[in-house]
Amino acid sequence: FSYFSPGPAKIPDEVLSGLQEDLLQYKDTHISILEVSHRSKEFTNIIEACEKVVRKLLKVPDNYRMLFMQGGATGQFAAVPLNLLARTGKADYIITGTWSEKAAKEASKFGEVRQVKLDNTEPCKGDKFSPFNDTEASYVYYCSNETVHGVEIQAIPKVPAGVPIVCDMSSNFFTRPVDVAKFGMIYGGAQKNIGTPGTTLVIVREDLLGSPLPSCPAILDYTLLDKNKSVYNTPATFPTHVMKEVLEWVSRHGGVEEMERRCIQKSSLLYSIIDQSNSFYSTQVHPTKRSRVNVVFRVGAGGGNEATEKKFVDEAMQQGLLSLKGHRSVGGIRASLYNAITLDDTRRLAHFMETFLKENYS
Ligand code: PLP
Repeated sequence: FSYFSPGPAKIPDEVLSGLQEDLLQYKDTHISILEVSHRSKEFTNIIEACEKVVRKLLKVPDNYRMLFMQGGATGQFAAVPLNLLARTGKADYIITGTWSEKAAKEASKFGEVRQVKLDNTEPCKGDKFSPFNDTEASYVYYCSNETVHGVEIQAIPKVPAGVPIVCDMSSNFFTRPVDVAKFGMIYGGAQKNIGTPGTTLVIVREDLLGSPLPSCPAILDYTLLDKNKSVYNTPATFPTHVMKEVLEWVSRHGGVEEMERRCIQKSSLLYSIIDQSNSFYSTQVHPTKRSRVNVVFRVGAGGGNEATEKKFVDEAMQQGLLSLKGHRSVGGIRASLYNAITLDDTRRLAHFMETFLKENYS
């Protein structure tokens, strides 16, 4: 079987088999990893090792702190303004799809939010796509990969000096190198490329700590969590362990540079079938913004039709190609090609797409 879920997503087989052992007994503790105390030396070692591998993979500069938080990426939609809005009370949001839109909506509960919506059928304008040219915003926010719409923003927005950029990288975290120094903060939920739901990785520049809004709850307070090394309260111990294991797997397999090469190879395979299908397969996303990790498309002449798409999903499932149905808000098909999806998985899907095209194109 090949599992193309958008998240919770496939975990590399090599990691899964190690986890089976840890679930029965973790190292020489005589207890399961699920039972290990968050105050124990074993968990301290896990969180420190996880931080170490993150720093190595993304070459994180020393003036950035790492937080392991709960509440998912959605928790960050509130945490970001609660921690970073104090300077001016205003923030700018670049809207490219569902997730940036939800983040902007949440932020507007805490301050003044300016929004600009980008047209995903238009080409990406290099790094000049941020229309805000003043320093009124406490930060500029965007989402580097819109999981629902299959839109990936390759460039980092150009913003006025001194305005930090905040980025939701949930669905393309660790699928490519990132110049962390260009950001004030980046974050991502674990359940796509780096593990299982329950923990969210936040990497924040240290000068942005120290000024949460007075109403910021303790559980979302970056400054408090940083002071307590992410164990202010009981953290998501097992998901943190899984994250460490998955990231060490990424490191063993060539790091984020190799993950990027694989993502380009896998997604190009599917996009080339889409482009050569005489519009039987179609996508509205401009080629410069096509996601390398969530390939979203319609099936059927004239922009797709639901009956043909249902047939596609059903027949794919019979062949062991699972979880290809698009998000309910946009319909169609979505193939998520996160790091644990192999080239062989992708080739099987490509082969199925070619056969389905031959059998159903009229
Ligand atoms: N941001 C992006 C880009 C996502 O893909 C998702 C979930 O799919 C979220 C945020 C929300 O994440 P969570 O369900 O962990 O709150």
